[in-house]
Amino acid sequence: MTSYNSFHVTQRQVLEAARLLHLDAATIDLLLWPQREFSFTIPVRMDDGTTKIFHGYRMQYNTARGPAKGGIRFHPEETADTIRALASWMTWKTAVADLPLGGGKGGVVCEPKSMSQRELESLSRGYIRAVAEYIGVDKDVPAPDVYTNPQTMAWMMDEYETITHRHQPGVLTDKPLQIGGTEGRRSATARGGVIAVREACRALGVDPRSRVAIQGFGNAGQRAALLHQELLGGGKIVAVSDSRGAVYSAKGLNAKNLVTHKLTTGSVTGFPESEPIRQDDLLELDVDILYPAALENAISEVNAERIKARIICELANGPTTPEADLILHRRGIHVIPDILASAGGVTVSYFEMVQDRYSYFWAESLVHERLDAQLTRASHSVQQAMQEKGTHPRLAAMVVGVARVAEACKLRGWV
Ligand code: GLU
Repeated sequence: MTSYNSFHVTQRQVLEAARLLHLDAATIDLLLWPQREFSFTIPVRMDDGTTKIFHGYRMQYNTARGPAKGGIRFHPEETADTIRALASWMTWKTAVADLPLGGGKGGVVCEPKSMSQRELESLSRGYIRAVAEYIGVDKDVPAPDVYTNPQTMAWMMDEYETITHRHQPGVLTDKPLQIGGTEGRRSATARGGVIAVREACRALGVDPRSRVAIQGFGNAGQRAALLHQELLGGGKIVAVSDSRGAVYSAKGLNAKNLVTHKLTTGSVTGFPESEPIRQDDLLELDVDILYPAALENAISEVNAERIKARIICELANGPTTPEADLILHRRGIHVIPDILASAGGVTVSYFEMVQDRYSYFWAESLVHERLDAQLTRASHSVQQAMQEKGTHPRLAAMVVGVARVAEACKLRGWV
C-alpha cells in the first residue's frame, strides 16, 4: 500500500481548489505553507526518576481570518508533517464553518497510554512553557485532540495563567465547565457530524434511520453513537470498533450500554450481545452510514472498492486517502469531508471563546441551537459549491474554505 505524507495530501487539495478558483500564483504559494512553525523539546522527570526529552510542535497555518485555532495531539507517530497537515485542515475547517478564526495545530511525540497522570501533567505544563509567548486569546488558541482532553486543557490553562499572572480562560478551549468551559463542547464534534449527515440525507433522499457503523470509539465516536439515534429519530448501530477490536450485532448495539462498557473496561471488545469482528471488516459492512472516527488513512485504495456505505461522515481528520477518495467518488458514495463533518468541535470552541470573553455562559440548548444553525449553513455552502463547480463534496468544501481564506489574505494586502 502507498504510504502517505498527509501534508503532501493537503497541499494537493489546496492546489486543486486553487485551480478551480483561478487564484494567482502568490496566493497559492501563501496558502500552501504554514505561516509560522514552532518546534521544541520538553524535558519531563518521569516517575522512575529518569528524565525524558519529548519533541513538541505548534504550527500556525494561517491567521488571516482570526487567531490560529486547533488541537494539540499526544501521539507516538506524530511528525512535523502530520501537524502541518492538521494545521492546514483546521484553516479550511474554520473557514467552511465561517468562524472568525484561522487554523493551527500542535502535537507531542509520546506514548500517552503508558504514561502516568503525573507524567502527563508535567508534559502538558512543559508544552505550555515552551509556547506561552506565542499563544493567547488573540494569537493562537489550542484545544484537545487525539489523546488529550479537558483535564489536559485545565493543566495547560493553569500553567499559562501562572506564567502571565492573570485569568485568561479563553487561551484554550474544551476546558472543564467549572473553569471556563462551555456546555455542549464535549459532544460538539459528533453533533456537528450528525447535523451534516442529516443535511446530506435530505439532499440525497437517504433515510438516516438506517444501519450505521462507527470506526473509532473515543469521544467523537461514542457521542456519534448516542446522537445519531437521538437527533435523527432512529438508526441501528450495527458495529463499532476501537484500537483493541470491533463488535457487531445485526439487531443493533445499545449505544448507552456500549459507552458504559467502553468506559468501564477500556474497550468495546467483549460487549455482551455482540459478536467480535475484525476491525478492517467493519469498514466494509453493508451499512448505510459509516462514521470513521479514528485516525488518518483508514480508508485507502486497499478497501475503498469494498465499502458499501452510501454516506461516509468523516469525524476523524483525514481518514480517506486521495486514491480512496477517487474510488469512492466514482462509485457514487457521498463522503462528507472532515473539514465539514468534524467542524462542530471547533465551532463550539469558538462559542467557548466568546463566552470566556464576556464571562457569561449560555444554556446548553442555546449552544446546540447555534451549532445547528452554523453547520446547516456550512453544509448548504458546500452543497452549493458542489453544484456550481460540478465537483465532489471534499473539493467543494476546500473551494469554500480556500476562497474565504484567500479573500481575507487579499483584503489585508498580503497578496
Ligand atoms: N481538535 C478538534 C479538531 O480537529 C477541535 C479543535 C478546536 O476546537 O480548536 O477540529
